[in-house]
Amino acid sequence: MILILKPNTERDGTEFSQLLEFLSNLRNIRFRTHDEHGAQQVLTEVYLIGDTASLSLDEMESLPCVERVVRISEEYRVLGRHRDTVRPTHFEYNGVRFGQDNLNVFAGLCAVDIPGNVETVMKALKAHGQQCTRMGAYKPRTSPYSFQGHGKECLPFVFELAGKYDIKVIAMEVTHENHVEEIHAALHQTGHPTGVLLQIGTRNTQNFELLKFVGRQREFPVLLKRGFGITLEESLNAAEYLASEGNSRVIFGLRGMKTNMGDPHRNFVDFAHVPVVKRLTRMPVCIDPSHSVGSRDYAPDGLLDVFHVTAQGVIAGANMVLVDFHPEPGKALVDGPQALRMHELPLFLEDIQIAREAYEKRVETAARHAAQWAETA
Ligand code: PEP
Ligand code: MN
Repeated sequence: MILILKPNTERDGTEFSQLLEFLSNLRNIRFRTHDEHGAQQVLTEVYLIGDTASLSLDEMESLPCVERVVRISEEYRVLGRHRDTVRPTHFEYNGVRFGQDNLNVFAGLCAVDIPGNVETVMKALKAHGQQCTRMGAYKPRTSPYSFQGHGKECLPFVFELAGKYDIKVIAMEVTHENHVEEIHAALHQTGHPTGVLLQIGTRNTQNFELLKFVGRQREFPVLLKRGFGITLEESLNAAEYLASEGNSRVIFGLRGMKTNMGDPHRNFVDFAHVPVVKRLTRMPVCIDPSHSVGSRDYAPDGLLDVFHVTAQGVIAGANMVLVDFHPEPGKALVDGPQALRMHELPLFLEDIQIAREAYEKRVETAARHAAQWAETA
């Protein structure tokens, strides 16, 4: 059960202590409080764990400070929807809105190489009205002999160039808690020219200690990639690790599943789960067509498979697209074969726009029919 408190409830007020006093006296029930930081207000939620079936909703609703009570299922306590339509399904970070109702594109380098390529990408993004990008500094690689990313050395020039081209959010994978500290330090050193969305990659989806660390910090929101060889439920529980430690600004990323049933694609495209994740949780959902498809093959209609699967995810309501671009894919140090070329950026963005408008039209059409059915029922 969740008690949603009145906005901006004072933690040191008498009413709040009366509430805590009452809750401490409930038998077989533990509780913990959790703050949701919105743009204008702080919403405090109190999670009751244990024998909550015996509690009366009316009684709990009449307690001091309590605005609303939601009965929840055991799963995904913080991030789950629990059939509630009022708790937020969006958050803001560095002036950018991330929600289940909007869409952001994060086109950029899988791995940062030279400053010139970072600048070429960011300049093109700005020219096409984009304010987000992806830039990998820490790369988890299959072979220990492959390029591992430039790490903290590249952060200052990446952040400074982002500031120069008004990029507000950079998705950047971290594989160790030190990386979060290095990002924090480099942002501080460069005067916070941009923001960072910490990415947890598919190989670390169940690295619980990393999840707990990243969940305890509140500075950066998180993009959690789905584990490529575990169930959806296991990956959603991994997201809940972040939230249960206090950071509920989490985006859930679909990136394809590892199985040869998806051949010739690098992974089996799983974007059919976009609406499923939106139904089960309050997280915005990201799709990664580059790591799903893994190549630059064209369909006979002249569109790349990467474009087709992006459109499939967007027309199903995806909220973020994470996609690899490179000025010279042949020279990319990581994942060149799947990178889109810079001249393809305007077409890619236009194609996404077509799919997004189709999605919005589908939602409106469904609502119109539902209203008609209600009238005639
Ligand atoms: C990436 O986005 O660069 C990446 C390594 O993704 P994943 O963790 O999904 O393989
Ligand atoms: Mn990659």
